[in-house]
Amino acid sequence: MSALDQLYSAAPLLLQEVATTWYGWRVYRRRYKGIFAEEARRVRERESWSTEQFIAYQIQQLRQIGEVARHSPFYRERFQLAGFDPAALEKPADLSVLPLLSRDQLRLHGQDMLTARPEHDVTTYKSSGTSGTPRNIYRSRRMDQMIWAYWDARCWNWFGASHRSRKAVFGVRKVHPVRRMDPPFWRHDWLTGICYFSIYHLRRENLAHYCRELQRFAPELMLAYPSAIYPVARFALDEGVSLPRPRGIVTTSETLSAEQRRTIEQAFGCRIYDQYGAAEACVFGATCEQGHLHVSPDFGYLEVLKADGKPAEPGEMGEVVCTGFLNELQPLIRYQLGDVVRLSRLSHCACGRNMPIIEEICGRVEDMLHTVRGDPVIRFDPAFKGVHGIREGQVVQRAKDLFIVRIVPDPGFSADEEATLIRNMELHLGPGHVIRVEKVAQIPRTASGKFRAVVNEMASSA
Ligand SMILES: [Zn+2]
Repeated sequence: MSALDQLYSAAPLLLQEVATTWYGWRVYRRRYKGIFAEEARRVRERESWSTEQFIAYQIQQLRQIGEVARHSPFYRERFQLAGFDPAALEKPADLSVLPLLSRDQLRLHGQDMLTARPEHDVTTYKSSGTSGTPRNIYRSRRMDQMIWAYWDARCWNWFGASHRSRKAVFGVRKVHPVRRMDPPFWRHDWLTGICYFSIYHLRRENLAHYCRELQRFAPELMLAYPSAIYPVARFALDEGVSLPRPRGIVTTSETLSAEQRRTIEQAFGCRIYDQYGAAEACVFGATCEQGHLHVSPDFGYLEVLKADGKPAEPGEMGEVVCTGFLNELQPLIRYQLGDVVRLSRLSHCACGRNMPIIEEICGRVEDMLHTVRGDPVIRFDPAFKGVHGIREGQVVQRAKDLFIVRIVPDPGFSADEEATLIRNMELHLGPGHVIRVEKVAQIPRTASGKFRAVVNEMASSA
């Protein structure tokens, strides 16, 4: 714990709220002042573009980011070796002469990728991912304002909210000392209208408090990890407790199961709008009114590649490789974000936007498990189908032929349910595997508080 955290923990409640408000105001200024309004207007303007217009824009942006990247020792060498000249780029696919940029390379050579000396307004963001090796991502204030222009125009505006909406946030900030077991489990930023809820106190005995505060605060917009608000939603439905009706709930970072989505949407009486992005800020996706996750082609150039490096066809699983247009200080060109997705076969959406659709975010590359025959498996939803009495489940591969299903059981979980679960797993994986069910009181989160549905323990021990 840092000295500042210790000071915060020891301070009286009122002072903690003052500190939260001060923090919130600084965040607000960094995000929504300066070029933010003008950028948001431009982003909204481009929204009605045709596919051809977007491609022409991508070519121009790729040339520009390539030219800027030449000012960094890392890319200068890279371009020379590949014989790549950004000015000669005629179509986005011409970029494929360049090698992929791995997350390890960003960790080791992030400094060499800088195109200029970082100025005073540059913030470094740590992207730890699930592997726990932090990478420093340099972002200028201008760039941050551009990113939040996309959030405003291409996510919140799509369901009638904006950066000014009253927000309830269920994030990783430790707003309430973790050891304190008494309410309030939230703190307010009184100036910009945000209530930060602690995700570290979501025990059943505390949930009534959460529901009451949510009802009182009446957020217009909620930002949350699905695994954090799911218990609140489940509790409210089970106990008949009423919850507020925000305009929308935006979820990020974790894949959302069908059961989580149903429960959360029912309890809050509004839709979930999934947002797709990362601290690296080279891809931005958001859900439209039709429920489709659109990728903004003017935010970055997205490639979805198969294991052999060839582009995946729509409907096929592939790895996300992206080139961001916004970061001129530390360009990320053909960066392996680490996600596996499936692009939709749909060529257009009823909402009228000409932006590619991600059909499914399948998981993380490191979460991709393989059967004894070597077939990739990433989603295990079918294994849990028709099995009752499970609050949370996680699939762990411990050896080539050994799978553990870790579950948090409800009282309704019987031996029959367990047998069904094992049978489902056998059907899903095919013959030749040992499957064990492990009952636990809770499933540990990652260092950054995220829930993982699939864990490859072979990879971490290798
Ligand atoms: Zn749409």
